[in-house]
Amino acid sequence: MQLQENISLQPYHSFASQEKAAFFSIVSTDIEMETAIAWAQDKAIPFLVIGAGTNIVFTKNFEGLIIKNEIMGIRKTHEDASHVYLTVGAGENWHHLVSFCIHKSWGGIENLSLIPGTVGAAPIQNIGAYGVEVGEAIEHVTAFDTLIDQWITLTKADCLFGYRDSIFKQQKNRYLISELSFKLNKQPNFKTDYGVIRDRLHDMGVKTLSLEAISNAIIHIRSQKLPDPKLIGNAGSFFKNPTVSKEQYEKLQVQYPKLVAYPISDNSYKIAAGWLIENCGFKGVRKGNVGCYEKQALVIVSYGIESGQEVNHFSQEIIDTVLKVYDIELEREVNIY
Ligand code: FAD
Ligand code: NAP
Repeated sequence: MQLQENISLQPYHSFASQEKAAFFSIVSTDIEMETAIAWAQDKAIPFLVIGAGTNIVFTKNFEGLIIKNEIMGIRKTHEDASHVYLTVGAGENWHHLVSFCIHKSWGGIENLSLIPGTVGAAPIQNIGAYGVEVGEAIEHVTAFDTLIDQWITLTKADCLFGYRDSIFKQQKNRYLISELSFKLNKQPNFKTDYGVIRDRLHDMGVKTLSLEAISNAIIHIRSQKLPDPKLIGNAGSFFKNPTVSKEQYEKLQVQYPKLVAYPISDNSYKIAAGWLIENCGFKGVRKGNVGCYEKQALVIVSYGIESGQEVNHFSQEIIDTVLKVYDIELEREVNIY
């Protein structure tokens, strides 16, 4: 096992703050991952597995072992008349997998184009965009269960996927994921009725739909609206979209006729958190070394933070303001350590 001591975490997460890890190890096989966990357990220190670090804020030094997952490989295991089944190492880059599938004409994850991060982190918050969630394409997940110290296979049902949620998020750091199996469609089922995909396809002059055309449209929209984490520190949407009752929605709608919201059941609505934050005046606002991105208020950006505390404090200010104005408590989507 390759072990580094007292290293800066700055290169390993997209907010790029300067916290350190007492121990750090890169693993590229499931045996190395198990060895790393056993080593930390033996020393009775905490451990944390990370992928590309695009959904993390470190607020203090990590006094344990950070395990960076680089387990690679994309393998077709079998296929039937309608589907192709793939097994993918958790360290693969998510967008690389999406591009690989599009190139092979396998549908199902094209709407998740250009989401940063690794395949292994995708089920943690059940990554979603443009009306598609990764849980829809997952068959099963292979993970080391640190409660029973055994490798296990979780079926899609076991994963308890929900809106930006899963068993992996509910029981944080219990399951360390090494591999995922996906079921992809040979006959594509295009989903273009979300956000501005259709408008963008039209602007791009697309006459015949294809997986590639949808992916290109989404890449184009995302590139224009979201900060590139390689250039501007951020972790994507900082908060989840809150759900409110129909009654609360109707009251808000009277007060704020431009409120952006979508019904999710007969008596509940999803409110666009970005709209709430923007309407409180935070869009483009900078406080010290952090701020809300000028093109999407839901994204907190760094202007060169030293500590993730700065991000955490600013996010608390947003939570407090939104609560005061709308009586809605925002929940952070990003993982704070
Ligand atoms: P990390 O940040 O490294 O880890 C995230 C969490 O997962 C941590 O708690 C970590 O401990 C855990 N984890 C990571 N790997 C494993 C593993 N192998 N086993 C167990 N636990 C693990 N998210 C969306 O849902 N939709 C979007 O459209 C979207 N757009 C984004 C756009 C931008 C510009 C950015 C910066 C982020 C965006 N995100 C989005 C968030 C982010 O891309 C996803 O959450 C992604 O899955 C994080 O992958 P990662 O490898 O960077 O995870
Ligand atoms: P957008 O298209 O401007 O939409 C604003 C909000 O309205 C989004 O939160 C989205 O909810 C919701 N929405 C839009 N069309 C909808 C529809 N037809 N039905 C139900 N809800 C609808 O959002 P955006 O900021 O540009 O992001 C586009 C997509 O990428 C969204 O799906 C968003 O979740 C995803 N994204 C996620 C992250 C992240 O870090 N989690 C970062 C960037 C983008 P949902 O968010 O529930 O989809």
